[in-house]
Amino acid sequence: MLTFAAFLPHPPIMVPQIGGANSAKCQETGKAFDTICQIAEKSEIETLVIISPHTSIHPNEMTVSFNNFACGDFSAFDKADIKIRKEIDVDLAENIYKISKKMSIPTRLLEQDNCYNIDHASMVPLLFLEDHVPPSLKIVIIGFSLLERQSHLDFGKAIYKAIKKIGYNVGIIFSGDMSHKIFEEGSEFVGQKFDKEILSAIKENRLAKILETNEYLQEEAGECGYRSLLIALGLSQEYGLDKIRSKVLSYEAPFGVGYMVANFELKQTETP
Ligand SMILES: [Zn+2]
Repeated sequence: MLTFAAFLPHPPIMVPQIGGANSAKCQETGKAFDTICQIAEKSEIETLVIISPHTSIHPNEMTVSFNNFACGDFSAFDKADIKIRKEIDVDLAENIYKISKKMSIPTRLLEQDNCYNIDHASMVPLLFLEDHVPPSLKIVIIGFSLLERQSHLDFGKAIYKAIKKIGYNVGIIFSGDMSHKIFEEGSEFVGQKFDKEILSAIKENRLAKILETNEYLQEEAGECGYRSLLIALGLSQEYGLDKIRSKVLSYEAPFGVGYMVANFELKQTETP
């Protein structure tokens, strides 16, 4: 069953060993991460699904990690000693795949050489959550596609259908940064407009409003989190929009990229 759902940004600069003094510039995000960690701890998850914009992205199909293990480090940020290795919940991965196929959503179970790569958009949330989840936590890393919006809504529904069937507690993180053009005047502040629209939808707990975002605005905003949010909307529709309360815990853009932390409070209706 689903017991935890959140939307998180993934700036590696937030990791103190990487960002150094700059980490403090994302203080609001850091505080909101602390809150999310407390919520995650209480939800006693055994598996965490991560929707990542920076895993292997296939334009025409969604991807679901299917190795036995996933491994990642921050060598790209000169910190190879910061490492994570987690078992993949292959049963859940396979269920997500099967249900997606049944719903005619182009999806692929993806195996990579040796160990499935944990990209930085999955690494950052995992690092912060580490002390608040059991060491035996299993994960599933999911990549969205460049297919139309409806496929992402359907995929969110498929993911929830698969989680619902599982007898243990599962959490989900929708990883994504908002506009990367917050300081760009030349673009008529499309970045700020985009972030404002999304923020109001989530603050007002009107998730369906995410769909009203104009495609031009979305493309021009230079974001990486919109499709994660579409999947969040699809999942919420399947869960029941009246049983979910979305809340923005923080928003800031200290380096010109919007960082939003949002929690999706779940009213439990399922019996395990
Ligand atoms: Zn990103």
